[in-house]
Parts: sequence; structure tokens; C-alpha cells
Amino acid sequence: MKKDYYEILGVSKDAPKADVEKAYRKLALKFHPDRNPDDPSAAKKFTEVTEAYEVLSDDDKRAQYDQYGFATDEGEMPNYQYQHVDLDEALRMFMRSFGGGFGSFFGGGDPFEERSYRGRGPVKGDDRLTSVRITLEDAANGVEKEIEIVHLISCPVCNGSGSAQGEDPIECPECNGTGSMRIVKNLGPVQYVTTKTCQRCNGEGQIVKDPCTKCRGKKKVRERVMKSVNIPPGVETGNRLRVAGLGDSGEKSGPPGDLYVAVEVRPHPFFERKGDDVRCNITITYPQAVLGTKVEIGTLQGPVEVKIPSGTQPNSTLRIKGKGMPNLRGRRTGDLFVNVNVEVPKHPGIRERKVIKKLSELMGDRTKFDH
Ligand SMILES: [Zn+2]
Ligand SMILES: [Zn+2]
Repeated sequence: MKKDYYEILGVSKDAPKADVEKAYRKLALKFHPDRNPDDPSAAKKFTEVTEAYEVLSDDDKRAQYDQYGFATDEGEMPNYQYQHVDLDEALRMFMRSFGGGFGSFFGGGDPFEERSYRGRGPVKGDDRLTSVRITLEDAANGVEKEIEIVHLISCPVCNGSGSAQGEDPIECPECNGTGSMRIVKNLGPVQYVTTKTCQRCNGEGQIVKDPCTKCRGKKKVRERVMKSVNIPPGVETGNRLRVAGLGDSGEKSGPPGDLYVAVEVRPHPFFERKGDDVRCNITITYPQAVLGTKVEIGTLQGPVEVKIPSGTQPNSTLRIKGKGMPNLRGRRTGDLFVNVNVEVPKHPGIRERKVIKKLSELMGDRTKFDH
């Protein structure tokens, strides 16, 4: 399988890093699974561009790729076991790299943050992603939702020190305090050196001798907790709300990460949403259409009396201003479009039939031959 990362991103072989980044942003936005819920091929595309970006944005990986790229058949791509990029991981990367790109709904954060904390100051905790399903009514009016969150918090037993007795940490003997392990791989004549975060000290270069029994020296424990989250009016499926500080706790007294809540708005049995506008269908009788009537419609903002003018034709649409969805960014509220159907009775009762017969006699044959 030949894969041309340059072709995938649509950049030239000598494209500078900034162009690679730009191309990736554009494509990742286009194929982001959240934006293409009905297109399963988008997720595949998204993974593909992410994979291409991973390689071309990294000087070392790109140099190796340029040299050994896709040779001919087997044995191509010597170093990268990249057949598959985990979609979750890709999404995390996406969130990290585009933080801040969508206004207040999306968080900040370093692109492709390294996981080694050695020798660094405070590090913000990881972000967490969860999802919530709400009704269209809730989306129209806003709602406070209790949602379950699973995140890492500083261990309450050892106060986040990782040590049972509170003694100072020592240098990690596994990596000699470097926090990373060198891995040397020989593939034919070429030697590849990669580094991996030390498993023993988790990249910190230090361990505690007598670890806390609660967190087993990891300084953090999982917490499952219910939190109430404010969902603003106007949200739609695919929106991601950022709740500051509800992600994982930070490293070295860094601030906690954020929680992202992916919103899914359930389809409504009566209303159909089109952007900020909402559509619905009602059916009235022939006499109601002829004489006009008033109908109470339970809109998303509560009941509204709608006047149907006399002479309303089948399949006509009434527009009720301002009764659609509020706009998330404070623009004009959408409208409600009511499609009016006129029912022709299939099985009229005896008395109904009598009256209609009289009407028919009165009206006579008014058959028209339209084009
Ligand atoms: Zn602990
Ligand atoms: Zn270590």
C-alpha cells in the first residue's frame, strides 16, 4: 500500500513546516468526525491526514520518510508501525493542537505536549472528554445537566506526594534519572534510535522508595464523580463545551486540565432543526383551511397561538419569527416554519358526508385541467 504523505496533505516535498501545519489544520477540520457524523469515510480520512501530519511535522520522522518513504513493496516505511492511528488519540491530538481555534468552546494547551515532566516546571493536567445527550427543548432553552466525570485527582492519602511516609524521592535507577529510555533498532543497514518515556518513573526521573498504598506511588487516583454542567441555549450536535479545571490534576502543582463535553442533541419527534430555524408540520381540515382558524402550537419556547388565515392552501408554510433556536453566538434567534397540510377525509361519517354532498351540489363541477 503506497501512501504519499505529501499527496495526502496536498503540500509539495519542500513545503516548510508552517505550510504542513496549515494544510493539516484545513483538512483535519474538514474531515473531523464530529463534523461528518453521517460519513464514515471521514473518520478514515481524518486518521490518514493525522498520520501524515505526525510524520511530516516532525523533522526526524520527515527526514527518515523522505529517505526511505515507500520503497516498493514490503519493507516500506521502515520505522513506522503506523498502519493505524487510534481515533481517540487522534482526537486528543486534534483537541490539543487546535485548542483556542474555536473561540471559548475549545480550550488552549500546547500542541503535542510531551509527556516527560522531568526538569520542567508546573504542567497542566490532561484534558478529559465526555459526552452528553440532550433534548431539543433543552438545547433551545439551555439546561443544567448532571454528568458523570472520570478523571485523575491528586491522591488524597499522600497529598499527591506518592510517598507513604512522606520521604523525599530518589533518582530512578531504571533510567538513571533521565526520565526516558533509548531504544535502538537495527533495520538492515540503518540504525534507528528512538526514546521512550521510562515506565518506572513515568518520565519524571525520580521514584519514591516507599510508595503510598492508595495511589501506588502514582500521586494520582481515579475519581468518578457527578458534576453539574451548564449547557447554553443554542447548542447543537457536534458542539464541544469546555469546563475549565475538571480534567486531570496537574503535575508539579500545575493547574488541572479541562473537561470537554461533546453535545449530542436528540432528534425531536415533531420539530426538525435546520441551523437556527425549526420546521414542523400540522394538518388542518378543509373547512378550517377555507374559513381560517387558530391553532395552538407547543413551540420550543412554550405554547403559541398561530393564526391560520382563511383560504390557506395545502402545503403552504407559515413563518413564525423568533420561535426557532437561539443562536449560540448571540446572533438573531431562528424562526419557526409551520408547514400546513390540509386533510381530505378518507372515511367521512354519515352526517359529514351529507353536508359535503350539499356543498358539492352548491359548488358544482369545477374541475380544472392544469399543466
Ligand atoms: Zn497516594
Ligand atoms: Zn525512570
